[in-house]
Amino acid sequence: MKEATRVPEGIFATLDDRTRGPVLIPDTSGFDEARRCWNARFDRSPGAILRCRGNADVMEAVRFVREHGLFLAVRGGGHDFAGHSTTDGGLLVDLSLMQGIRIDPAARRAWLQPGVLVGAFDHESQAFGLASTGGTVSGVGVAGYTLGGGTGYLARRHGLAVDTFTSADVVTASGELVRADPSNHPDLFWALRGGGGNFGIVTSFERTLHPVGPEIMAGQVIFPFDQAREGLHFYREFMAGASDDLTVYPFFLRLPPLDVIPSGHHGEPGFLLVAAHVGSLEAAREEMAPLLEFGDPFFRAVDVMSYLGAQQMFDAGMPAGQRRYSKAQYFDELSDGAIDTLLEWTGAMEGPFSAAYFEPMGGAINRVPAHATAFPHRDHAYSFHLVADWTDPAEDDPMREWAGAFHDAMAEHAAGGVYVNLLSEDEGHRHPEAWMANHGRLGEIKARYDPDNLFRGNQNIEPSG
Ligand SMILES: Cc1cc2nc3c(=O)[nH]c(=O)nc-3n(C[C@H](O)[C@H](O)[C@H](O)COP(=O)(O)OP(=O)(O)OC[C@H]3O[C@@H](n4cnc5c(N)ncnc54)[C@H](O)[C@@H]3O)c2cc1C
Repeated sequence: MKEATRVPEGIFATLDDRTRGPVLIPDTSGFDEARRCWNARFDRSPGAILRCRGNADVMEAVRFVREHGLFLAVRGGGHDFAGHSTTDGGLLVDLSLMQGIRIDPAARRAWLQPGVLVGAFDHESQAFGLASTGGTVSGVGVAGYTLGGGTGYLARRHGLAVDTFTSADVVTASGELVRADPSNHPDLFWALRGGGGNFGIVTSFERTLHPVGPEIMAGQVIFPFDQAREGLHFYREFMAGASDDLTVYPFFLRLPPLDVIPSGHHGEPGFLLVAAHVGSLEAAREEMAPLLEFGDPFFRAVDVMSYLGAQQMFDAGMPAGQRRYSKAQYFDELSDGAIDTLLEWTGAMEGPFSAAYFEPMGGAINRVPAHATAFPHRDHAYSFHLVADWTDPAEDDPMREWAGAFHDAMAEHAAGGVYVNLLSEDEGHRHPEAWMANHGRLGEIKARYDPDNLFRGNQNIEPSG
């Protein structure tokens, strides 16, 4: 057990007595670091942070917040765009110390504790030449990512993270630990695959693995903005015929000060095609050849690289500590009208680090029926995501307004629907769009497993029915 009591008095002292992991309260060592989120906009101060060391701590935490009527926030990797993995007052259940990963290479299975980050999961599974769908930034938490859906370079070939998610250990609202899989608590298991953190605290994720790499063809091509229209026309034709192994993102940002970009263009709007092919190198070279020949870019860096390297391509551009605001929606086609609107807004991108991109769906993502898991968006061609990114708190309102106006302009060409993992904190009104026809069943399952809505620090599904 613990060496010394860290919380000498107050209600959190009794929690400290009941748990193995440290309980941090304001003004004590480690609290300030532990409370911080990836998105600097959510600068909040929980009443206490419990850094759980195992299932027993998570169970105690749930019982404790019930007994004391506290607000509960839960954190896996802390990358929530909506700031739900922190709170002012209340208890933050921080799972980041629970980082165990077990890989069974013969069975092609992985068991992950809820503090595991995408990069660590990739590292452990690639030791056996295996991988499972993981987000495209290595600091993202496997927990929040998997519970909402989970896209990435492997999704068109092997399905979303929810499609590779085969069982879970879950601490429910009563503080009990249950196993959820197709035979045990099957409704709960269905809801966990896309319903977010609404149904309990997951303490173990079982995921299927597939042979990947270890070398793949991947990289990026960086164009001046004046080639973006032609680039998008090329892209939509190219992607329409792409195999499930190939994922390409058309990406807009202000060009960084890299040596390979002429200095006069630094800070100017730019256009990128970011690509990864997860099939054989031979197939990749053949399929990616048009991408290697298209246009007159500043820089073409698509080549053989490690899958691990490909998974880290975006890391440098997504550091923690910036202020961010996210807006997202789905598209069935990249119409001429959508391209016009996109170029109008990305040609005057606000914020030095803001980004907008399309992520192709299709392949294995779209072969799963919309009702098979709680994640319903199985028939769209693209997910469109806009992240406004800035540093000065005084810019909060103007940046959010700019992102909202950009989003609304794009909505005229969109299919409707939104990916729950990309929603912001002021978008509760879009929940019916996030879960579509599955929303009703999710409310009923919520009523069975969490009738008092203890787990409401999330994109919340209210108990219903
Ligand atoms: C830089 C960046 C890149 C991204 N790239 C991708 C991508 O490529 N593909 C993609 O699909 N998404 C991507 N996302 C979105 C990402 O999937 C979500 O932000 C996700 O919620 C992050 O998970 P987390 O564990 O880090 O978040 P957290 O902030 O810790 O949690 C997010 C939500 O999940 C809940 N939660 C966390 N852990 C648990 C648990 N164990 N049990 C129950 N509830 C829990 C939290 O309470 C919160 O409501 C990206 C996000 C960022 C910021």
